[in-house]
Amino acid sequence: MKQQMKNYIHRLLQHFLYDILRPYIVRFVRHFIKHHLAYLIIFIAVSSSLIVLSPGKTSLENIYPPDTSQTPDNPIIDRTSLTNFGQDIMNGRTILLVTDNPYWDKVMIKGSIPADFKIQSQSSPYIIELPENFIEKINNEEVNSVFSKSIEGMSVQSIYDAQYIYINCQKNYPLRIYVDTVDTNILHIDIAKTENPYHSLVVIDPGHGGSDPGAINGDVCEKDIVLDIALRMEHKLKDLGVNTVYTRSTDKELYHRWITDYTNFLKPDAFVSIHNNSYEEPGPNGIATYYYTTGDYQKKERISLAQTLQDSLIKEFPKWTDMGIEKRDYWVVRKSDHPGALIEFGYISNPNDLANLIKPEIRERASNAIAAGINSFLKK
Ligand SMILES: [Zn+2]
Repeated sequence: MKQQMKNYIHRLLQHFLYDILRPYIVRFVRHFIKHHLAYLIIFIAVSSSLIVLSPGKTSLENIYPPDTSQTPDNPIIDRTSLTNFGQDIMNGRTILLVTDNPYWDKVMIKGSIPADFKIQSQSSPYIIELPENFIEKINNEEVNSVFSKSIEGMSVQSIYDAQYIYINCQKNYPLRIYVDTVDTNILHIDIAKTENPYHSLVVIDPGHGGSDPGAINGDVCEKDIVLDIALRMEHKLKDLGVNTVYTRSTDKELYHRWITDYTNFLKPDAFVSIHNNSYEEPGPNGIATYYYTTGDYQKKERISLAQTLQDSLIKEFPKWTDMGIEKRDYWVVRKSDHPGALIEFGYISNPNDLANLIKPEIRERASNAIAAGINSFLKK
């Protein structure tokens, strides 16, 4: 009986496979060959090329050890590593991955023209559009990948008249995309190593703005110089885990009252106002930092912030006159509930200081020194 049952099931299966299902399979295969074979060939070609270019083989971190020059005490990017960028993306010298910053994984891409980018997607995968010839010698087939703790994948593609960078990273991890303040051909893509890479908050106040130019000498205005110095500081501070908020990042006039109300609402760990000095005669020159105290309220912190900023600037510019720190009744430091200082970086009225202030490299160095000073104060 058992054997009979087995035979019956066997015949039933045979009937199903050969008589019912086979015509359908044959018809499907014929149809597929006629209409879809080209797609199959493309699919096989694409998947095998992806395997060939798999992350394990092209990971730049594996081939090029991470740069170890960047430490939290040194906000200044090691520029010698940037000058070693080469031309050929496939050997990795155009893209540099720095993974030793405690707060951010940093990707630097050196282009052949200014990194004039557009962000096409605001969440992972982030898509950044760059000009056609930004990275030399890439085409549609060449894909490079970099991987780190926060970067899950990255590829670069050239499509028609633009180049695209795709980045897959951890959701909710902050990402910063910006052009280098020294070499505008370098694009920075920084991905946080955690959801909140910031341990402190600082408010930066570039003095004057809009219809208030501050001090003037010829066609040079204080409002423009201090804004440039201030904006150069943003990513240096963020690299150090210091979140940065500006009272202004454009050429606009602010009420003093608004500046302090805004700052006190944000409750920062430090408030730093940046100015240039001026006098009716051309003689006076140099760097000074001012603070304000009433009674013992934050006396130690306020003096410490002013002194640390002044020391950092004089260390960077040892030949400039050190006018020291001083208590001054300036609204923005007097009305601040938090440790605040007002820097007077050079005299616009002094010809020698003025010649320095108009140089981008001097402003870059000033931004490095102020950022380093803020960092030292926050660590105390
Ligand atoms: Zn001023």
